[in-house]
Amino acid sequence: MATYDDQNIFARILRGEIPNDTVTETEHTLVFRDIRPQAPVHVLVIPKGAYVSFEDFAANASEVEIMDFMRTAAKVSHDLGISMDTGKGFRAIANSGEHSHQEVPHFHLHLLAGRPLGAMLV
Ligand code: 5GP
Repeated sequence: MATYDDQNIFARILRGEIPNDTVTETEHTLVFRDIRPQAPVHVLVIPKGAYVSFEDFAANASEVEIMDFMRTAAKVSHDLGISMDTGKGFRAIANSGEHSHQEVPHFHLHLLAGRPLGAMLV
């Protein structure tokens, strides 16, 4: 497993060193708007703990952190009006590692919505 780089941009956001457009936060999870949105709604859901990737988070986060992450992502989709109940749905993407073009080595989930996103995933 890759070593966590505590100078990555999301670690710096979590420490308050870089401003962000926060949508919501809980004890374990932060949700903020992507600086280069790829859709009308584009938010990033990140755990507050130091996890490099999807695999790292799944293997090493506590059940409480994982539950909080999933429930917060679902709640924010509802609150932003992009869930299947409150809107027209969203796409959730977690890039993990080199071939996925993961740019920031702190695990995150993209929530993209607000227009038809097409059937192609890549
Ligand atoms: P990845 O390619 O790692 O899955 O996605 C990283 C995302 O982080 C990109 O969509 C990029 O626009 C976003 N991002 C990079 N730097 C910053 C930043 O300083 N602030 C915010 N809000 N988003 C950022």
